[in-house]
Amino acid sequence: MTTLRHRVAAAAGVLALGVTAGAVAAPASADPRQTTKSPTAVGFGGAVTTVDADATAAGLDVLRKGGNAVDAAVAAAATLGVTEPYSAGIGGGGYFVYYDAKTRTVQTIDGRETAPAVMPHDAFIDPATQKPYNFTPQLVTSGISVGVPGTAATWQRALERWGTLDLGEALKPAIKVADRGFVVDQTFRQQTLDNKLRFEAFPATSSLYLPGGDAPQVGTIFQNHDLAATYRLLGQQGTSAFYTGPLAQEIANTVQNPPKSPTTTLPVPPGHMTAADLAGYTTIDRAPTHVNYRGYDVYGMAPSSSGGTTVGESLNILDTVNLSEMTVPQALHYYLESSALAFADRGKYVGDPAFVNVPTQALTDPLFGKERACQIDSNKATQVPFMPGDVSNFDGVCPARPASAASEKDTENISTTNLTVADKWGNVVEYTLTIEQTGGSGMVVPGRGFILNNELTDFSAVWSASDPNRIEPGKRPRSSISPTILLEDGRPFLALGSPGGSTIITTVLQTIVNRVDLGMTTPEAIAEPRASDRNFANSSGHAFVTAEPGFIAKYGSALAPFGHLLVPSGDAFTSAAEIGAETAIEFLPDGRTLAAAEPVRRGGGSAMVVTPSP
Ligand code: GLU
Repeated sequence: MTTLRHRVAAAAGVLALGVTAGAVAAPASADPRQTTKSPTAVGFGGAVTTVDADATAAGLDVLRKGGNAVDAAVAAAATLGVTEPYSAGIGGGGYFVYYDAKTRTVQTIDGRETAPAVMPHDAFIDPATQKPYNFTPQLVTSGISVGVPGTAATWQRALERWGTLDLGEALKPAIKVADRGFVVDQTFRQQTLDNKLRFEAFPATSSLYLPGGDAPQVGTIFQNHDLAATYRLLGQQGTSAFYTGPLAQEIANTVQNPPKSPTTTLPVPPGHMTAADLAGYTTIDRAPTHVNYRGYDVYGMAPSSSGGTTVGESLNILDTVNLSEMTVPQALHYYLESSALAFADRGKYVGDPAFVNVPTQALTDPLFGKERACQIDSNKATQVPFMPGDVSNFDGVCPARPASAASEKDTENISTTNLTVADKWGNVVEYTLTIEQTGGSGMVVPGRGFILNNELTDFSAVWSASDPNRIEPGKRPRSSISPTILLEDGRPFLALGSPGGSTIITTVLQTIVNRVDLGMTTPEAIAEPRASDRNFANSSGHAFVTAEPGFIAKYGSALAPFGHLLVPSGDAFTSAAEIGAETAIEFLPDGRTLAAAEPVRRGGGSAMVVTPSP
């Protein structure tokens, strides 16, 4: 299916929006900004898939010119910073997973945002009242929640480890899109409207994203010359121009003295980040997590993200049964229970490994998964959340079922963006980047064209010494980001990842189950309605599953005998009830690559290959 995503306004001379307004007179047919997009593409020579047509085109152009998957991933990610600025950008962080065709190994970079060196344990307590800040609006729109951004350093590190381009070259396509502009679509307008109150609180944000006091209209051109200039600066001087010098000082000033409008009613508490925190930021090269699922080697992101351990543990649990021989409702029942169990362990054990002893090996051990699988009743969903397992003592033999149950509060959001790239040499990148909530902290660094994250809201809201995700100075908040690569005999079979806060984990898991066990193609597996069991309880203590309305319509009655409580998805901050606008690439047995993006959610994504084939 090919859809025309961007419609250029019919009026002659489309109004250019952004920091500098100007008329764009090119007729629609000749305008390079008018892009088409398709959610699937099959062929040879390399592939790119993202949520956005401009970003996918930027990555593909790099591949066409001889760049490798890492070069193309950085180019696409930087372009997403322009066209998906409320989900990703240099004001945020992310996790980069790379398969190297020569060595047939998977390696990763942890580019997670980090708490300032002086962030106190009670940072989420309002000093004026001694009571916890409300999550909304106090924490989400604040300096407190801004973590030291990791994205620029991630791009630099990925290029120096595996790329062929320097940062300046890799940023060029994004600079072009920022300067020439892109065509506003409904998703961009809606996300801007959803953030209107927050963006109005900061003159630097409203002048960029609310020109004339309104969200840009669908079909108009949006330019971001300030971001182009910031990218140029990084291209010329390297990431030291971000982490030291005037820009670093401006970031710290924005966090410490949020530049809010005198008329806003939002409180916007200040944060603790200093220029020294930025100067001290480093990415971390990490070994991936690994499990084997039905013969595939599944590599994921190790802590500080909980993605790899939680997807991995769920797969180990599911590997104890044969889903493909079950009815679909029975298989879905196992899928839901497996993730609930893994989330119980995530809550008890996973945090930043620089601060807590995370039992990554045990959590991804097949024997531990086997033992956890004992908790699943094949006919009946648990009615209360599962208790965590014992990672210090397991042998694959069923223990007595724990009597009581634990549940966590979840404050993660649905923002973030994901991209997948493969090149003609067989290298693969799976990269998820974020500024946390859609619209991050809402604060644009004045004159610099990018929004700062509010990632530190991913720390647990209430501080407890036994919580692996408690606030600590210099710590990375636990993520759910799950860029995942499946290998078959050392060669890539499937690479996938998703946005969606803690539902990222279940989206990636469900898609693997759909593809590997339930006989769906990768595009079908992505399009399928989703349900997410994160071991939550409602106010009466009853375990529940969050499910897209489409999932409830399709499977609700067939799942009813299992007793799952399906609660329709939806989010307090946006009008969307969608779970996960995913991207993936499958490597077909005949040597072609099948690039797939979400077809509908978030307006649909864009997949392209260098040389299409039927
Ligand atoms: N903060 C989330 C995480 O790192 C990502 C943001 C989102 O997807 O809402 O897990």
